[in-house]
Amino acid sequence: MPVIMKGMEVVNRMKEKMLTEVENLKKAGIEPCLGIVRLGAKPDDLAYERGAIKRLEALGIKCSVYEYPENLAQQEFIDNLIRINQDEKIHSILLFRPLPKHIDENEIKCIINPKKDIDCLNPVNIAKVFEGDPTGYAPCTPEAVLEMLEHNDISVEGKNVVVLGRSMVVGKPLAMMLLKKNATVTICHTKTKNLKEVCKKAEILIAAVGKAKVVTAEYVGAGTVVIDVGINVDAAGNLCGDVDFESVSQIASHITPVPGGVGTVTTSVLANHVLRAAKS
Ligand code: NAP
Repeated sequence: MPVIMKGMEVVNRMKEKMLTEVENLKKAGIEPCLGIVRLGAKPDDLAYERGAIKRLEALGIKCSVYEYPENLAQQEFIDNLIRINQDEKIHSILLFRPLPKHIDENEIKCIINPKKDIDCLNPVNIAKVFEGDPTGYAPCTPEAVLEMLEHNDISVEGKNVVVLGRSMVVGKPLAMMLLKKNATVTICHTKTKNLKEVCKKAEILIAAVGKAKVVTAEYVGAGTVVIDVGINVDAAGNLCGDVDFESVSQIASHITPVPGGVGTVTTSVLANHVLRAAKS
């Protein structure tokens, strides 16, 4: 049986350090605070928001929710974001996406102050990830993948790592972050030829495709470390990843479960970023 890489182990390790940091910030008169910005009230956003608030408040981090109507005009949205940017009590901003179609997301991304942009929407922070400059904020999910590997003492240096998916939220930034850690990275997508063969050569395979259980045992070589970023619902209505856990766990050396894997760690990375923003 493979090692099941549980997210809660990483969460608990990160928690100890963060509790001390919150205590020190409060002693210095700083109450770390995350501003959560949402247009409308999609059930998925609300579920993530509830989880994030619960995790952050348990650490002593305050959360202020800015809920706006889904039909908020672009300029009004910008004016509100500028006000949040200027509010010294709000150290960081989490903006739920995708935004409604009438909103120009590219303009909005540039409005968020890079120093408060703790989930890497502003091009300044994206550029820093691509340059390997650690002074910015990487997107939380790719960072959660690295935390997961580090916690399990899995070095990526010199390893053949295959990233399935090339979105700006997960695949692309993750590939850059792995490269910075000296991995040999292959990025795959829907146009990749011989996908199964390419994946099978990976020493570490990271799936971020958003398709339930698409990564079957045919994609995985013996002894591979398999990280599943996907959060999907299967035909029976149950939460599942991009990896077919049942078949792949017969072959992999390590595997992350869904739920209980990378997604669990993402919120702790978010909390960590809020603390960094509050300290700076
Ligand atoms: P996305 O924007 O839809 O991107 C999916 C990527 O996967 C695309 O690059 C696409 O290729 C590629 N792809 C799709 N089907 C494929 C296939 N059959 N074979 C090879 N490549 C394929 O998705 P995302 O935002 O990156 O999210 C990916 C998954 O991660 C989703 O399940 C999402 O819910 C989950 N997620 C989890 C967290 C977390 O905290 N754990 C956070 C964010 C997202 P093309 O570019 O060619 O279309």
